[in-house]
Amino acid sequence: MKKRILTGIQSTGIPHLGNILGVIIPSIKLFQKYVNTKQFVFIADLHSLIQENDLKKIQNNTYYIAAAWLSFGLNIEKTLLYRQSDVSSEVTELAWYINCCYPYNRLILSHSFKERNKQHDQTKINVGLLTYPILMAADILLYNAEIIPVGKDQLQHIEITRNAAHKLNKKIGKKLFLLPIPYFHKTTMLIPGINGYKMSKSKNNYINIFSSDDNLKKQIMSIKTDNKLFKDKKNPDQSIIISLYKLIADKNQVEKMKTKYLEGQYGYLEAKLTLYKCLIETFSLERKKFASFINNKALLDNILYSGAKQAKVIANQRLNKIRKHFRFKKIFNI
Ligand code: AMP
Repeated sequence: MKKRILTGIQSTGIPHLGNILGVIIPSIKLFQKYVNTKQFVFIADLHSLIQENDLKKIQNNTYYIAAAWLSFGLNIEKTLLYRQSDVSSEVTELAWYINCCYPYNRLILSHSFKERNKQHDQTKINVGLLTYPILMAADILLYNAEIIPVGKDQLQHIEITRNAAHKLNKKIGKKLFLLPIPYFHKTTMLIPGINGYKMSKSKNNYINIFSSDDNLKKQIMSIKTDNKLFKDKKNPDQSIIISLYKLIADKNQVEKMKTKYLEGQYGYLEAKLTLYKCLIETFSLERKKFASFINNKALLDNILYSGAKQAKVIANQRLNKIRKHFRFKKIFNI
């Protein structure tokens, strides 16, 4: 069997710079490098229900996610791009099998649950927040995907998935589920947001490279700095601006900025403008392509339909096999 690579992004907003540098660009490079693999990119709209109440927004966001992948050059001849909800019955059925063999005691220890549990008003915590890693395990195990491009926040969920695969194999007495491995780069697995914490849609600290020039500039101008003055020498190792600049500019440009920091007579305003210009230049093509894709929803619908159709066939073949091992017979063909 061909190796399978799979990754997903929730439809909670427009993909931000963290999603792009952490997952979209590395995945596309990986897909291009390993042409002999089966590749899946899904839009996790079922997952989005956990944190987004506006259903229209979730639906609209699925288009933004698709447009972002396509504008960065996702090859849909090779990769299935689909909405998770279009394969919903298959993925939720497998999630149930996992639910019934994964220990509750371990699930409540997951970082994502503990962190959100702390932050939120308890009455707003839904069960989905707890069982989200189970659905994610099902997203992966349904296709027997082996390589999973992710950011740092998802590493524990991949561990849960590996554990779930092991437990399922034990339950049915057969190695039907492969144990997936995460794929990430140390330098891009945790992109900081404008306040220095992990860039995240829910923390509202993100940079949206697809926004208008003015909006993008506003976001860059809001990057947190210390209160050193123009004339002061500054520490390049403690600068969010440089942390982000390093990820997109070439080495010489970064060295130049670092030297200016160390010498003084160089303000954060200048540094921010340099970062802003670099973002605009680096992603000018993708920004144009994004605008064009997002204005062609019929095309996006066609692409997502075709991806879902193929994913559904693979998912059903797998699920029929899994069902047999659970001794559930398919008696109706409807
Ligand atoms: P999400 O937007 O939470 O659905 O995340 C989609 C993918 O992007 C996951 O693999 C995340 O780990 C990854 N990701 C999200 N935020 C960041 C970030 N700030 N840096 C690197 N990767 C990220």
